[in-house]
Amino acid sequence: MIEVKNVKKAFGKQQVLKDVSVEVEDGQVVVVLGPSGSGKTTLLRCINFLENADSGQLAIGDTCVDLKKATKKQILEIRRKTAFVFQNYNLFANKTALENVIEGLVTARHIPREAAIKRGKEALDWVGLGEKYHCYPCNLSGGQQQRVGIARAFVLNPEVILFDEPTSALDPELVGETLDIIKKVAGRGITMIVVTHEMSFAQDVANKVIFMDEGIVVEEGSPEEIFSNPKEERTRQFLSRII
Ligand code: ADP
Repeated sequence: MIEVKNVKKAFGKQQVLKDVSVEVEDGQVVVVLGPSGSGKTTLLRCINFLENADSGQLAIGDTCVDLKKATKKQILEIRRKTAFVFQNYNLFANKTALENVIEGLVTARHIPREAAIKRGKEALDWVGLGEKYHCYPCNLSGGQQQRVGIARAFVLNPEVILFDEPTSALDPELVGETLDIIKKVAGRGITMIVVTHEMSFAQDVANKVIFMDEGIVVEEGSPEEIFSNPKEERTRQFLSRII
């Protein structure tokens, strides 16, 4: 189980997260919705220590840390349990698909190169890129690059994968194939927190939907509760704009 409690984060005078708490059961898919600028990405980045929160606690399994005062060792422990899929893929441009996928296994997990290559190829096969091991990112479509990003996260066998708007940089015709792969990851029972504007994905896959606005969790519930019967006016207004 993942528990994020009372997270606060400001950039200068702007309070971007104003006491956010989220709980995710093992194997659950949580979709985070909300207008641009509501703090969704910042929340994900604080969970992975890509951003340092001003206060808050985080528990992933038996690792509990203070987000402000975590030691380097604790941060490494949390990073070992999490993987991040970025909006703009964040692949190394000078490495092939396979080298991108095995990088974390070799450098962070210290897995011998041969074993890492075997696992990396299996992960690329699994996302449908068995023919592309040796392609560089510039020779892959956006959808294929994001599938490399997903394989790179999946191969680490993390306790949770954090997806930050994984399809929003893609051309519309490439969104579906990428969402299909993310559904496949969900089908493997991996805990996932997904920031996305893809409502049909949220409806199909989410166990829980969280609606954020202006740095707070306004409302959370099952997809049915949030989409069919939202309680808060702000949620209703947001949904009426995007559905
Ligand atoms: P969302 O993901 O909901 O669109 P973000 O978490 O990306 O929201 O951003 C929330 C607010 O924080 C925005 O106003 C954004 O400009 C600001 N922000 C995010 N990251 C930084 C940063 N590194 N420095 C300054 N402001 C930031």
